[in-house]
Amino acid sequence: MLTKDRAVCIRAVDYSETSQIVTFFARLAGKISAIAKGSKRPKSAFDGPIEVLSYGDIVFTDADKDKLATLTEYQQQPMRGGLRRNLFALDSVLFAAELLNRLTHDCDPHPILFDQFVQLIGDLDEQAAAGPRRDILLRLILFQLALLREVGLRPNLKTCANCKRPVSSDWRESYFSSSANGLVCRDCEMNFPERVQLSGPAARTLANLGQIAQTPENILDEIEAVLIHHFTETLGQRPKMAAHVLKSRPK
Ligand SMILES: [Zn+2]
Repeated sequence: MLTKDRAVCIRAVDYSETSQIVTFFARLAGKISAIAKGSKRPKSAFDGPIEVLSYGDIVFTDADKDKLATLTEYQQQPMRGGLRRNLFALDSVLFAAELLNRLTHDCDPHPILFDQFVQLIGDLDEQAAAGPRRDILLRLILFQLALLREVGLRPNLKTCANCKRPVSSDWRESYFSSSANGLVCRDCEMNFPERVQLSGPAARTLANLGQIAQTPENILDEIEAVLIHHFTETLGQRPKMAAHVLKSRPK
């Protein structure tokens, strides 16, 4: 049976001299892996090798959780030009694609997340030309929080995840714990050995995301480091692209 969908390629690996195995995040089907036979031949049905972050309409057969689908049609539109000119913007989108691949299951549809991912690619493509690094980082953080919500891992950011005391400027120390799935206060932090400390401004930004648009870059970098800690704990391994978006901060 043939299925038609709209999709972004989030991973592509060589399978043979002439073929690739590609992973698409598709709007209605969710994540699917497919073999693209002959995609590396000069005259392939897919206009050449399939590139990560290309997008367009796909047609495929027989997708299910246990076996590869076969890609039969893909009119790929290549990644936009802006992303090719700004390494941080490109790395941010590649990081988002890696997280999508790791945090979603095969054939589990997430149309809202698909739309948000396409929007992220478009926004960062535009910002790549003129936008400061801070704006790109802000956009990436919002996508990561949306991703966590959409896959059912919404972190607890308004209160201590353990004792439920509201986050406020009275908190003398703030922590984030991946196992508690959220912010943790000073009285509870010792219960969560993997917790990381974060500054008051970073904790209050997470507790009040309406203000994140005004948050300075160094606080956003701190929040990104906390999110990477969280993804690393959640996935059991550090995402490969993490090092490319993380600014090394003096401790
Ligand atoms: Zn607490």
